[in-house]
Order: sequence, then C-alpha cells, then structure tokens
Amino acid sequence: MKDIRNYSIETQCVHSGTKEDQYGAVVTPIYQTSTFRFKNAEHGANLFLGKDDGYIYTRMRNPTVEAMEDAVAILEGGYKALGCGSGMAAVTTALHSMLVSGDHIICADSVYGPTASYLINFLSKLGVEYDLVDTSDINKVKPLIKANTKVIYTESPGNPTLAISDIQELANLAHSAGAKLVVDNTFMGPVCQKPFELGADIIIHSMTKSLNGHADVVAGIIVVKNKEDYPQFRKTLNHLGGVIDPFNSFLVHRGLKTLKLRIEAQNANALKIATFLENHPQVEWVAYPGLASHPQHELSKKQSNGFGHMIAMEVKGGIEAGKKLMDNIQIFQLAVSLGGVESLIQHPASMTHSSMSPELRKQAQITDGLVRISIGIENCDELIKALDEALSKCK
Ligand SMILES: *Cc1c(COP(=O)(O)O)cnc(C)c1O
Repeated sequence: MKDIRNYSIETQCVHSGTKEDQYGAVVTPIYQTSTFRFKNAEHGANLFLGKDDGYIYTRMRNPTVEAMEDAVAILEGGYKALGCGSGMAAVTTALHSMLVSGDHIICADSVYGPTASYLINFLSKLGVEYDLVDTSDINKVKPLIKANTKVIYTESPGNPTLAISDIQELANLAHSAGAKLVVDNTFMGPVCQKPFELGADIIIHSMTKSLNGHADVVAGIIVVKNKEDYPQFRKTLNHLGGVIDPFNSFLVHRGLKTLKLRIEAQNANALKIATFLENHPQVEWVAYPGLASHPQHELSKKQSNGFGHMIAMEVKGGIEAGKKLMDNIQIFQLAVSLGGVESLIQHPASMTHSSMSPELRKQAQITDGLVRISIGIENCDELIKALDEALSKCK
C-alpha cells in the first residue's frame, strides 16, 4: 500500500510492513533461511558495498523480520525499527548504541527490574554513570542533569504504582541538555501512547507483551525516530547479535493485525474492573490511570489515548490474603508478564519478590498485599465475578 503512514492506526495494524511477494502472498511468508545466495561475485560484492539492495545473512537482514520491523516503525511513527530477541536485548542494545565510558544516564527508578539491574551491574562497570530517580517528578530529574548526560530513560506508567511521567517535559529537558529521551512503551503501546509525538527519540518495546499479545513469543524492538540515528543502532545490533528470528517475527506481525481491537477490549475491561475493585471492601487501594483517584489522571488523559490494561491493588490482610486470592481465583492465570489476550494475576510478596527481605520489599514499594493484574479480552462480567468470589475468601 502506498503512503500507509497517512492511514489510521486500524488500517496500519492490518497492512503495514507487508512486502510485495513474487507469488502474490497476502501475508509476508516466513523466510526461514540463515543466508541468501548471491547471483555472482559482482552481486555479492555490490551487496556488501551497499550498491545493490538485497539480503546477505539473516542476522543482518531478513525479509520476514524486516516486514515486522517496518510494521512497528509505522505504528510508532518512527523512521525504522530493529527487531531483537527479547525486550531486554532491545534495552541493552539500545543503551550500548547510545552510551560510552564517561557518559551519564538518568533512569526512572520504577523501570522494569532487569533494566535497572543492567545499569547497576553492567553499564556501570563499563564506566557509564547513572542516576535512578522518580521521573514522574520533573523537579527531581532537573538537578541530576550533568554536562555528560546523554540519555534520559523512562517508562510510563511505571512499576508498581503506575505513576505517569510527563514524556513531553522529559523530552524538552533532555534536548535542552543535548541528551536523548528513550521511552519503554511496553505498557501502553502505539494504540494508547505515541512517545515520538511527545518528543521522545527512541522507543523500546518488549514485544513479548501486547504487540505480540498472545503469550507465545519472547521478543523486543527498538524504534528510531530519526534517520541519522539509525545506522549506529543497526551496527550495534548486528555486532552484539541479539536479533529476533523469522518465525517469531512472523508471529508478532500476525499479532499486530488485531492490536487495536485487543487493546481497546483490554482497556475497556480494565476500566470497569478497576472501578469495581476500588469499591470493594477487601481492597485497600487501586492504582489505575483511568480512575479519578489516580494522582496523574489528568496527565494520563492528556498524554495517552486510553489508560492501559495494567492494574495494581492492595488487598486487605497482607501476605496471607494475597495468597488466598491467588489460590482461589478462576479464569485469571497465576503468571508474570502482561499484555496478552488472557488475564494474568500476580502477588509479588509471595511470588516474584518472595526471596527479598521484607525491608527491601518495602523500599521497592512492594507492599504485602500488592497484587498486579494484566487484563485480557475475556468477558468482563465473568472477570469481575472471578475477582469478587476470590476476594470474598480473603477475609
Ligand atoms: C517484560 C518487560 C521488559 C523485558 O522484556 P522481555 O521480553 O521479557 O525481555 C522490558 N520492559 C518492560 C516494561 C517489560 O514489561
């Protein structure tokens, strides 16, 4: 399709990225090949010199991967995208592309755990300075800017409180300091939030979550806004090697076709469920950007188109109540991850963070009754009934 970038997101979800095919295939096939034959010596030479456009080796470029990458680049409104083997491969490849020894990064303290760990345990050893800070408060970020600050990195909403960071403010601050803004847009995705329109320079996704949306792929992607920034990212990914494979690219590209439908259904369910939970006697508090009680409800309305499918809540009765909820709930799967068509529920204090001491958990804002829910596309009344019945057993 010509000028797919001018179409609405519904049409883009279905059609973007798909390649012209010699057999007329409507869907870009899985080119499950590691390498591509040259026509002759000169062709091989020209491909390597960049004089001919074509494929050489799948780590560098593959039609199925490229189709999916183009689709995500178009959905996010960026120049090009780079498919990675996981969300973490996208995070580490992006930061390796942007930072060298002596540089400084300011990062949200509520980022995905392994992202923070990568700064603390790996990048710092390479001589990159970092500060972790609450990026939802710009006044805490400003004083941390230094002459060597090259990157501000945020996730909005953050974890576990779903605090919203003002992406436009952060972009302005980054640019005034000669730095770039990276946004991990995994929680919202391009249907709900367009970080490039708010000034971000680089977007990262764990496509394991809503872009693929069916809990059957681990994958990530880096989306680059500007043409001149792109070659450095491609070179880093080629050399570090954390690429996605053709089959997973095919699955993600397939998932993207229903992204708008899935996200709208998930968001509608989540708003109803958050409202139900907020009024439930067994629930202490609910964090969901769509509730008027969320401290940045107005900012969320301004910055995003929809409030997402992630809900955090505190069950009354601490660890024991949390465990009872997990052991009695129907429909919801007890599992980490998020963004898929199936609803998932997780109780960090007894599950993912159970090995942490109570003091450390408190520091990380992991309270004893904290429950994280990712809402899927099931029937909303049945999800509410499942929560209501399980909560009644927590008393
Ligand atoms: C899951 C997740 C990641 C990491 O992605 P993987 O695909 O698991 O490597 C990064 N950021 C956020 C916000 C995530 O939820």
